[in-house]
Amino acid sequence: MRNNITIIGGGIVGASIAYHLASTGKAGDIVVVERDTTYGKAATPRGSGGIRQLFSLPENIEMARVGLKFYQKFDSIMRTETQPASISFRRQGYLFVSDGGDAKTMVENFEKQQKLGVNAEILDRHSISQLFPSINCKDINLAVYSPDDAWIDAYSALQSFRAKSRDLGVNFLEDEIVGGDIEKGKISKLHCSSGRILRQDIVVLAAGAWSKKVASFFNVCLPIEPMSRESYFFRCEKELEPLPFIKTETDLAFRPEGDGYTGGVPDWSVRAGWNWELSNDYFQNTVWPALANRVPAMEVIKLERSWRGHYARNSLDFNAILGRWVGEPENLFLATGFSGHGIMHAPAAGLAMSELILTDKFQTIDLARFGLARIVEEKPYRESGII
Ligand SMILES: Cc1cc2nc3c(=O)[nH]c(=O)nc-3n(C[C@H](O)[C@H](O)[C@H](O)COP(=O)(O)OP(=O)(O)OC[C@H]3O[C@@H](n4cnc5c(N)ncnc54)[C@H](O)[C@@H]3O)c2cc1C
Repeated sequence: MRNNITIIGGGIVGASIAYHLASTGKAGDIVVVERDTTYGKAATPRGSGGIRQLFSLPENIEMARVGLKFYQKFDSIMRTETQPASISFRRQGYLFVSDGGDAKTMVENFEKQQKLGVNAEILDRHSISQLFPSINCKDINLAVYSPDDAWIDAYSALQSFRAKSRDLGVNFLEDEIVGGDIEKGKISKLHCSSGRILRQDIVVLAAGAWSKKVASFFNVCLPIEPMSRESYFFRCEKELEPLPFIKTETDLAFRPEGDGYTGGVPDWSVRAGWNWELSNDYFQNTVWPALANRVPAMEVIKLERSWRGHYARNSLDFNAILGRWVGEPENLFLATGFSGHGIMHAPAAGLAMSELILTDKFQTIDLARFGLARIVEEKPYRESGII
């Protein structure tokens, strides 16, 4: 039976679900409701676009692997007759650095990654300096290097998901969902701020950091909260060797971007909630010293731009929530709570959700442990190590 499907939220997750559903040719009408097509506050254009397999949970590793393969071929899969696709896929690797005393966890995670076939290696100080001479290794215990990992331009990926989905018949509506009617245990109608009413068989909630509020329209409570993160773009006076995406146990994360670098250090004193205010001196006092310590040439850098974006943080265990709601409304599916990983996981999430919606089970990757049961039972399923 062909079901008509409404997806709430047209960020990279909602758009990927729409694309994957439409490309099967087996769904009915697919509508994506996105209230702001400039994506002025969405996480997707504000993310770093990193794709890495360096996780501890098999689901996260598998999802990243699907993401890597998909994004590698993205430009050819996604171009349409009228619109080329170009996401600047850059395979320059990830380097996880143990400089905070938790090398044991990093090694344990590395062993799990090895078992799942991730191409990664442990580097000692000497090997790090040989590969990346600009890195100061004095306070590093070891690092895990994953050369197949990559990054992309997430905003371009989102635009191409939209264009290709439209080409396949998906309807993108610029409107805001403000309520829903539940009849006989199902969401029967969705109310939009324009006064429009939508009727569908299935509703997919993919509203990122706004998911808790949207879920409340259907009497569903989710542990999702917006978590503000400040990011920066800066240039380094000295030209360095091509660096990978570097993440350290002491919270520094940065990567090359064009002829500069992008990244930051999370400020743990910032509480959950919406916060768009740029800090006055956090870069100067915290980020810059951390950069200069890790890469001494970064003593001389020029900060060019700062911005804030918000993770959809799943406060139970910081992992994605993917699946059908347990109980009523029984036609509600959720794809949210991706925290800092929604860009790399969007292709796998789109594929998995389309399988679940159309065949009632996950086919390619078993993501049952990321389902809603753990949320209602409050049983966290956590990553270990750097997240
Ligand atoms: C600083 C930063 C760095 C990051 N780095 C990375 C990284 O390196 N790699 C990675 O994989 N991920 C990264 N992420 C995370 C990634 O950006 C997100 O997980 C991902 O973009 C989430 O996509 P989404 O579609 O779920 O949410 P969003 O992109 O936020 O989209 C949700 C959409 O829902 C819409 N919406 C909300 N409510 C309604 C409503 N009622 N009606 C209609 N529409 C509605 C919103 O307008 C929005 O456009 C980073 C995030 C941040 C903030």
